[in-house]
Amino acid sequence: MTVSQGIGMTSQRTRERLVARIREQGVRDERVLAQIRDIPRHLFVDEALATRAYEDRALPIGLNQTISQPYIVARMTEALLEGGPLENVLEVGTGSGYQTAVLSPLVRRVYTVERIDLLLKQARQRFHKLRLMNVRTKHADGGMGWPHYAPYDGIIVTAAPEGIPLALVDQLKPGGRMVLPIGSRQEQVLVRVLRTADGYQRELLERVSFVPLLGGVS
Ligand code: SAH
Repeated sequence: MTVSQGIGMTSQRTRERLVARIREQGVRDERVLAQIRDIPRHLFVDEALATRAYEDRALPIGLNQTISQPYIVARMTEALLEGGPLENVLEVGTGSGYQTAVLSPLVRRVYTVERIDLLLKQARQRFHKLRLMNVRTKHADGGMGWPHYAPYDGIIVTAAPEGIPLALVDQLKPGGRMVLPIGSRQEQVLVRVLRTADGYQRELLERVSFVPLLGGVS
């Protein structure tokens, strides 16, 4: 028996329980659920929190930031994938890298931008360890997107701006979609934006709670 099995909290059963919970909350995409089961979330948090990594909740990752709740990661990934396969996806807010890791096997390429250098360095090590070969990272303010690889089939934003950033809408292909939380610190809603030939349509998904999208880098 390995040490992690000994602890029990990272065991297959614990992970299956998390997947069952997320399924009960309405996530149906089996590809997404399989990622939630297979991605070792305990590697994305501090060792001291590893025993809580398969609880369905956000956890602190330092520097006032959090790793998103697994249900929300699953829901956002499912909402992004609905409507057909995605070639290139931009993620704003790498954080721990957990959302990136869930998305990585489901799309051709992920470009992920983080404004806090220390978090990005840790996330890069995790991508390397898990051999996620289709992820490119950048230390920058992602509010302006990553123009170099635009336009994107999909954009996922894991920190909340007050409204829909038009710079990001501009970096979507026509028919492309973006999933993001918008709103104030107190009240946010998850939105799916569909880029059309002459603008965009938006669809409200559910109430959520994210850290705010901030400007600049640190
Ligand atoms: N997807 C992450 C969630 C991390 S929390 C995970 O699963 O762990 C949101 C992250 O967005 C934080 O790390 C924060 O530093 C980052 N962030 C906030 N504003 C940003 C911006 N303008 N550009 C890039 N990253 C930003």
